[in-house]
Amino acid sequence: MTFSFDLTGKTALVTGANTGLGQGIAVALAQAGAAIVAVGRSNMDETERLCREAGAAFHSVQADLSSLDPIERIVTEASTLSGRIDILVNNAGIIRRADAIEFTEKDWDDVMNVNLKSTFFLSQAVARTMIADERGGKIINIASLLSFQGGIRIPSYTASKSGLAGLTRLLACEWASKGINVNAIAPGYFVTNNTEALRNDPKRSSEILGRIPAGRWGDPADLGGAAVFLASTAADYIHGIVLPVDGGWLAR
Ligand code: NAP
Repeated sequence: MTFSFDLTGKTALVTGANTGLGQGIAVALAQAGAAIVAVGRSNMDETERLCREAGAAFHSVQADLSSLDPIERIVTEASTLSGRIDILVNNAGIIRRADAIEFTEKDWDDVMNVNLKSTFFLSQAVARTMIADERGGKIINIASLLSFQGGIRIPSYTASKSGLAGLTRLLACEWASKGINVNAIAPGYFVTNNTEALRNDPKRSSEILGRIPAGRWGDPADLGGAAVFLASTAADYIHGIVLPVDGGWLAR
């Protein structure tokens, strides 16, 4: 075998790593041997404890990704703290729920800024470093089932995640020859803050659960295998995919 899932010696920058899927991904990458740089606006203590328990080096960078202001600083600080960035996981994201007929410009812009605009420009900034030293790397975008489906009452979220699937393919095409693998993971319905409103609505919650062939909501740890795989040399010839991790939802 010429490939490995071992990430020892690699540094992974994970946005929105304080909670939810970002935390699950950071811990999985740490368990596979990567040093973690957790980027976000909230306290990272819990993620730090979990990553250190896995034996990984851990650093955090405070940044609010609702604007592009911190992008260059994130890359500089991460490189100073942990050396080269080998893996970037664009996980930070928000959702706003309202009927399309009354959806506001603010709810459109806020979601697009975090989910799509900052994701693109952070990817650009990190890719510049990966290209400059000619060692390539891995970029993993956290997409959604709304990269494939329409959904209801989340117009800017669906637009951002559908856009992110397209952006994943474009960046894969531009950067594959530079040794950078750009791929995405599309989580199904996971138990995190993002889905709290859905889980608190008994009707929507049981409708969703009834459609998941696996018969349960996802746990953040369920994303770990896909993240480690796409971050590893086992995925060196994989470019531009959007990999569903959804308990079979899309197969239905
Ligand atoms: P979550 O618990 O709400 O986590 C979202 C993360 O993004 C948090 O760490 C949050 O930080 C961070 N974030 C939001 N706005 C930010 C900003 N302006 N600057 C920096 N960080 C910011 O929800 P989640 O489910 O884990 O979501 C993670 C990703 O998975 C998102 O991209 C989401 O769209 C995607 N996703 C989730 C599901 C699901 O079922 N849960 C399904 C498909 C896709 P704070 O805690 O500080 O707000």
